[in-house]
Amino acid sequence: MCRAAFVLFLALLFTSCQHSEGAKNTHKRRSNSQSKQTQFTEQHQRSLDTNLLDVQALNPQIQIELKYTGSDNFLGEKLYSKITKAYLQHDVAQRLSRVQEALEQKFPGYKLLIYDALRPVTVQQKMWTALDSLPPIERAKFVSNPKNLSLHNMGAAIDLTIANAKGTPLDMGAGFDDIRQIAYPIYEDSFLRTGALSLEQVANRKLLRTLMQDQGFRQLPTEWWHYNACSREEAKKKYKVYQTEAQIFQNQ
Ligand SMILES: [Zn+2]
Repeated sequence: MCRAAFVLFLALLFTSCQHSEGAKNTHKRRSNSQSKQTQFTEQHQRSLDTNLLDVQALNPQIQIELKYTGSDNFLGEKLYSKITKAYLQHDVAQRLSRVQEALEQKFPGYKLLIYDALRPVTVQQKMWTALDSLPPIERAKFVSNPKNLSLHNMGAAIDLTIANAKGTPLDMGAGFDDIRQIAYPIYEDSFLRTGALSLEQVANRKLLRTLMQDQGFRQLPTEWWHYNACSREEAKKKYKVYQTEAQIFQNQ
């Protein structure tokens, strides 16, 4: 090997070592942050208020993609700092688990996909304020007035869809948190007549609705994705209201 080639060889060796060290450090940093995240989540799980259940701990088949833990939502900002899981009252989680079982029996590999579950009043207030350009009556169709409370505030409401065996959400003809009337279950028949909704889209909504109603859940007339576990009056009598995220993890 000539001298110039040897110098080049050494230079390449040095660069490749640097790269591999860099990759190792990135990997180390990534695993450190992953383990911190795991510790953070485990700590939260242990301190979870005893009225609540992480629905995936009860039924791991149920999937989550919580929209308010990141910025992929109608406000474009992260709204939860501590919530990383779908928390529900025990009896509500059990009913939802039975919905998952019925879905699997009908369509093997299909899974419920939760977009939101327990949501504290402070976040409800933030959503309500963000939509202040709408008249209150219109606003209330989309976000419950925090003064009246939402069943989400008690862990007794769920926003969800169905994902097929490949993990792809079924086409519901309107997205999650879509405030257009095409998202309203009450107008499905008329949108079907005009062709704005297809038979398949309506059938997908009906599949979710039938399974949820079989377990006593009630759909909102204005959101295909939202289901209440019971009436607001009943929920107020039975369940605790969570004002803040800190209250969900009381024992910390
Ligand atoms: Zn909802």
